[in-house]
Amino acid sequence: MLSVENAHVTFQVAQTKKWPWSKPGIVHAVNGISFQLEAGKTLGIVGESGCGKSTLIRSVAGLTPLQAGTVQLDGETVDYRNRASMQRLRATMQMIFQDPIASLNPRMTIREIVVEPLAFFKPDMGAEERNTAALAMLERVGIPPAQANRFPHEFSGGQCQRIGIARALVAGPKVLLCDEPVSALDVSIQAQVVNLLKELQREMGLAIVFVAHDLGVVRHISDDVLVMYVGAPMEQAPASALVAHPQHPYTQALLSAVPVPDPRVRIAPQMLEGDLPSPLNLPPGCLFESRCPKAMPKCGSARPPMVTSGQHRAACVLLEDMSEKEAALTH
Ligand code: SF4
Repeated sequence: MLSVENAHVTFQVAQTKKWPWSKPGIVHAVNGISFQLEAGKTLGIVGESGCGKSTLIRSVAGLTPLQAGTVQLDGETVDYRNRASMQRLRATMQMIFQDPIASLNPRMTIREIVVEPLAFFKPDMGAEERNTAALAMLERVGIPPAQANRFPHEFSGGQCQRIGIARALVAGPKVLLCDEPVSALDVSIQAQVVNLLKELQREMGLAIVFVAHDLGVVRHISDDVLVMYVGAPMEQAPASALVAHPQHPYTQALLSAVPVPDPRVRIAPQMLEGDLPSPLNLPPGCLFESRCPKAMPKCGSARPPMVTSGQHRAACVLLEDMSEKEAALTH
């Protein structure tokens, strides 16, 4: 349903403490991300704040320009400079945002907010039909139709996120991009919104990309998980395999920080020392080398490619060595 191949996003920034005629700096926000997503499945994308996960999905949605890479949606390559292609993309792919209140127009009633996508994507529908469809969608996400004439400020954060979901899904998209949709909500409301997304996915066969920095939430909702660090892929695997046997040292550190209620199975969080590399000046070798407890001299010479070992794909020389041994055994 959605295929992203070697996506790169960069931004120009003015260099401070330089001459006015100095060249601008280039921030490498997304560096070579690829993934495929089937209908009815969820891909979770995790990583620390600022690792480029939101930039990645914003660029897939066409809200931030992609510098390189291709995006295929339902078998068709998206041309972000072509109006007709973008119209098809927006009808097929919708997004929900991190701040549920800021993502709704405060001057419109929630009925108008949910009717608007129908007016845009389904102009053949009559006004009464649109209204009925919008009220049914609001009811489906848990907002009573009797409240449809209220404004967004009259609802809580969790209810606003439900209204955002109704607006995104009312015109029947096939792909939903979720940019940290629960990180601004209380824990109990987070669970309700995640469960609502899972139910809607089952009913509508949605392909979902779910971005979060909390691996605990992501593993609950995802079929596959992609771990990002400084804009680059570190590891990708089925959620259960990634949680049970993380291969990349960065994934191991992230998982050790997930709170576990049972003290018998709790492990001590692995504290990462060292600094993140600057996205203005990326090192030639492994991006995680400055903080990796398993770093060795060869890690700094060249960027490790993503290699496959069992169900995992990871960018680490340790996995390269393992996959070479696996290949030798199969021969
Ligand atoms: Fe650590 Fe080296 Fe693997 Fe990078 S390539 S994660 S530095 S062991």
